Amino acid sequence: EEEKKSENVEMQKKDECKPAVFIPVDRLPEIQAVRLQLPVLAEEQMIMEAVRENECVVLCGETGSGKTTQVPQFLYEAGYASAGGIIGVTEPRRVAAISMSHRVATEMNLPDRVVSYQIRYEGNVTENTKIKFMTDGVLLKEIQKDFLLKKYSVVIIDEAHERSVYTDILIGLLSRIVPLRNKKGLPMKLIIMSATLRVEDFTENKKLFRTPPPVIKVEARQFAVTVHFNKRTPLDDYTGEAFRKICKIHRMLPTGLKPNPSCVILYSLLQYSVSSCLCVAGGILVFLTGQAEVHSVCRRLRKAFPYRPNREHTDSMETEDGKKSKRTRKKKNVSLPKISLDNYSALPVDEGDEDRQAGIDEEDDEGSDLELELGDHPDAGQVALCAEEKSDPSIPLYVLPLYSLLAPEQQAKVFRPPPPGARLCVVATNVAETSLTIPGIKYVVDCGRVKMRFYDRVTGVSSFKVTWISQASANQRAGRAGRTEPGHCYRLYSSAVFGDFSLFSEAEITRRPVDDLVLQMKDLNIEKVVNFPFPTAPSGDALIAAEKLLISLRALEEPPRRGRFGELERAGLSCPITPLGRAMAAFPVSPRYAKMLALGRQHGCMAYIITIVAAMTVREIFLNYDRPAGSEEENSKMAGKKARSAQMRRVWAGQGQSLLLGDLMVLLGAVGACEFGGCTPQFCEDNGLRFKAMLEIRRLRGQLTNAVNAVCSEAGVYLDNKLAPPTEAQVLCLRQLVLAGLGDHVARRVQAEELLDPKWRNAYKTPLLDDPVFIHPSSALHKTLPEFVVYQEIMETTKMYMRGVCAVQAEWIPKLLPEYCHFSAPEENPAPWFCPLIGRVRCHQQSTFYRVGWKLPSIEM
Ligand code: ADP
Ligand code: MG
Repeated sequence: EEEKKSENVEMQKKDECKPAVFIPVDRLPEIQAVRLQLPVLAEEQMIMEAVRENECVVLCGETGSGKTTQVPQFLYEAGYASAGGIIGVTEPRRVAAISMSHRVATEMNLPDRVVSYQIRYEGNVTENTKIKFMTDGVLLKEIQKDFLLKKYSVVIIDEAHERSVYTDILIGLLSRIVPLRNKKGLPMKLIIMSATLRVEDFTENKKLFRTPPPVIKVEARQFAVTVHFNKRTPLDDYTGEAFRKICKIHRMLPTGLKPNPSCVILYSLLQYSVSSCLCVAGGILVFLTGQAEVHSVCRRLRKAFPYRPNREHTDSMETEDGKKSKRTRKKKNVSLPKISLDNYSALPVDEGDEDRQAGIDEEDDEGSDLELELGDHPDAGQVALCAEEKSDPSIPLYVLPLYSLLAPEQQAKVFRPPPPGARLCVVATNVAETSLTIPGIKYVVDCGRVKMRFYDRVTGVSSFKVTWISQASANQRAGRAGRTEPGHCYRLYSSAVFGDFSLFSEAEITRRPVDDLVLQMKDLNIEKVVNFPFPTAPSGDALIAAEKLLISLRALEEPPRRGRFGELERAGLSCPITPLGRAMAAFPVSPRYAKMLALGRQHGCMAYIITIVAAMTVREIFLNYDRPAGSEEENSKMAGKKARSAQMRRVWAGQGQSLLLGDLMVLLGAVGACEFGGCTPQFCEDNGLRFKAMLEIRRLRGQLTNAVNAVCSEAGVYLDNKLAPPTEAQVLCLRQLVLAGLGDHVARRVQAEELLDPKWRNAYKTPLLDDPVFIHPSSALHKTLPEFVVYQEIMETTKMYMRGVCAVQAEWIPKLLPEYCHFSAPEENPAPWFCPLIGRVRCHQQSTFYRVGWKLPSIEM
């Protein structure tokens, strides 16, 4: 009797863990066949058992093994989305969130109401949603609204190996949320998915998980990849080297004519004839560092191996190139124009596009070690055959660019099979390393570099630098070649250089300012940020810098003894958040911009400041006309567009008051004009604007307007995409708002009498830098050179250049930024006030302005 009872209890316990129901999914047979090939399918049972028995599970598997697309489906089938909670999946990249949700919906034969996505500006989530893909930032915002994330029964943190800042924070937070949920009888699971096996930061971190979570490894059916190192490591012209290597591969190495069965099914599903998969296999994937490099290599390849598209695969881009490609089979030397870095539009933003290479196409260079490698090449016989056809490559090359700013329709092309009879060649940036798996790649060309944003923690100067990748990244890249058959990876660097690479890439959190994170965490009532269970903690310096900035923005309360940051440090960085800080935290933008929004409810400025902030946070709103062109005709067309774009910027900058708003007025004018012009692709193209950016700005304006209305109900901003230009008085107010947010980014022009060194001519002095900084020639204020300006950021290219410059008036500074000023006694009037950061300035104001409240000073006319 007793035994039976205990057995029953056991059974019950098991039943509790077991899914209540098995939810059938009606997949198409073709899809099912492709799924069955994926390595994670073999581990389904083990994965699901581990999930059932543990609060948190770490899942490691090679890119392409099926983690992202399959694990949410396992959970769905096991009933995790049917017991009142949904399955949430976070991705560090927007592209991945969107494309993965579509893919899973297709595989499950479910509408996108059920498998949905949410990114910063858009989504298709409904109340029927069961699986939700989102960016990590979106989930972080949701935690602020509902700390227990009651909506979710499972949260999957995908691409954890990328160590993006939000992913790290989410893991830290979820390590607390999950046990809390389970204690409250609301069971919840956490699955951390990573492409590399290096997960000790998550599992061995006692601060995170007291009992280390189990790690499940998915053995990918990875084919052997032969890695070939270069003998020499080209230091500058690695794009030229990449180009030459691709040419060689294409001429000498065969396409895989044996179709992979899964490809056949996949492609027949996509309604291509089976014959079209014959050429899929020998695909080439090239890793470069930036957009401009990608375009330049694409262009050279298209010229070298012209491909005339047939109807089926035509699109505007290819047609353009198709026209050109009538010319030369045998290439002539073409020297590309040097790209001027001395131009704003060439300034890289985020995944920038600095491309200094100006090389000569020589396809038959000596010194490469390819021939040597061919000796042990398994396809050596065929190679010889192909080599004979060297000067007449019969197989056209279907060249596609891939980078994160590329329009989504263009991005999606890499998943489709190349046109019949052509070989696929994808020229990509880092995005192809882990987030997207391109089918049919056999050859990988790896330049060994990546473009990364670097911040100087002390000065806040950021710059894009091309640096060596880590060994883990290099191996990831090589792995892309062995997905469907044995492959080859050509590294454009020597094995000695590889040996010097760091083993793993650094976590992003250690490389960037953390003020936004600290504010978000304070809003979650995590006062002692130093004690937070970061998988990798940011440096103490970075945390102090963030806390200082937030105090000066008055988002945090001042520590008892102001100015003594040593005290602050010892107190464990525990300044509590202020009401202003809470308002700021509600805006999905960094604290400096959030402050502008929090104060913007004056003189009818809100709609304008929302627009300015939206435009400042969107990447590259202007089209870049500085990429290397080809023909003379093309060059002159490009020059014409460039001139037109510059002219439009001058128009948008306006005159008088509005000119003083500087580059921010240009942004405002561009958005305003674009909205009045209907915000069409044509309008954007004609006026030098990037259409995708303008749509993003529009969406962000909507989102910020909602956030503003939610935070201060009396603000009542009415969202109208069209916006009348601001009045003079409003522009004056906008400049003050900008100053209030960018207070630590003040710069003062060096006066003639201070000019000691000619390098300071027309230069500005900033609080933290010893070096001169400049207003960029393409800035609206380049000729005006106001005495005081604030800037959005400093980018270092050929010089230190300020981006996003706006003129401010000296007398606003003591009123708005008393924290940055030292005041003399009130009796010495008119008091010279001394701003230690920017130098001595005469001020005819009384220092009674020492404390100002929330309101800006009334506008002076
Ligand atoms: P992982 O997350 O482990 O890197 P994924 O689940 O992303 O793997 O990919 C599994 C497989 O699904 C890959 O072979 C990939 O090529 C395929 N796949 C993913 N997205 C698409 C898509 N949009 N169209 C066709 N195949 C896709
Ligand atoms: Mg994945």
